[in-house]
Amino acid sequence: MPDALVADGLTKTYPARRGGTAAVTAAKRIGFRLPKGGSLGLVGESGSGKTTLARMIVGLARPDAGTVTIDGRDRQWRARGRKARLARAREAQMVFQDPYGSLDRRLTVEDALRDVLRRHRPDLTSAGAAGHVRTLLDRVGLGESKAGSRPHQLSGGQRQRVAIAKALAVDPAVLVLDEAVSALDVSVQAQILALLNEIRRESGVSLVFVSHDLAVVAEVTDQVLVMYEGECVEHGATTDVLCRPQHPYTEMLLSSAPGPDWQPERVAELRAVFAATRREPARSSLA
Ligand code: ADP
Ligand code: MG
Repeated sequence: MPDALVADGLTKTYPARRGGTAAVTAAKRIGFRLPKGGSLGLVGESGSGKTTLARMIVGLARPDAGTVTIDGRDRQWRARGRKARLARAREAQMVFQDPYGSLDRRLTVEDALRDVLRRHRPDLTSAGAAGHVRTLLDRVGLGESKAGSRPHQLSGGQRQRVAIAKALAVDPAVLVLDEAVSALDVSVQAQILALLNEIRRESGVSLVFVSHDLAVVAEVTDQVLVMYEGECVEHGATTDVLCRPQHPYTEMLLSSAPGPDWQPERVAELRAVFAATRREPARSSLA
């Protein structure tokens, strides 16, 4: 079976602005392969290029170089006409950190989902669509009692579940989540992570999970790509990267999360080691 998602040599530079900011290369020759039903974590500190990479994967940003292939098809093909645009939307969907931005405040949960189904599943009858809405609500762990709610009547976690349900309604091959649980309480975060694992198992969707938090990434991914200033500094199986980090930057990320045995001095030390070695080539233990 071909990989669901192949990224190859993805590069993007934001040009210098007249105000004086220098050009920033937010992604430098990033590549990876993700099988159907696989899950990749993109981690790195704020500004490391994660969102830029995520936007290139779903086609919201155009790479300066490199390609994104989903189910064997180049992501950069121009979608001409309605059918092509719908097919393109089915390749990849994105869930953002703030679902307020992607949810229409006027629509109830049910209407928002029906809206997506009207476009993507014109074959469904009204009863069929209603049934599918129930299935989607169930899949994201939202009771039917929430079907009539509008975004402002929901909690942050519930809104994020709606955003995930809307993305799943399209039945995408790849689902990209950019810091999608970062703003949520730890307990709600844990519920959504468990949900994502279940969705992945049941639907076979491939996940790209973006987070600055390695511990969160570990819950839902089988491979991790660590970014620093647009470069891939480490890429490998999640367990290897977490248990045996090869790069000082990864080690720093692991020890910079305040926990029971957090040592700020160690973080500072690793940062210094990292700064000194950062010209090393990227390592990938995955082909
Ligand atoms: P992350 O998601 O890891 O925080 P981003 O991809 O948002 O990283 O940003 C990577 C770098 O690119 C940062 O230095 C950021 O300031 C810069 N950048 C992001 N978007 C733009 C933009 N639209 N124009 C100019 N610079 C940008
Ligand atoms: Mg970001």
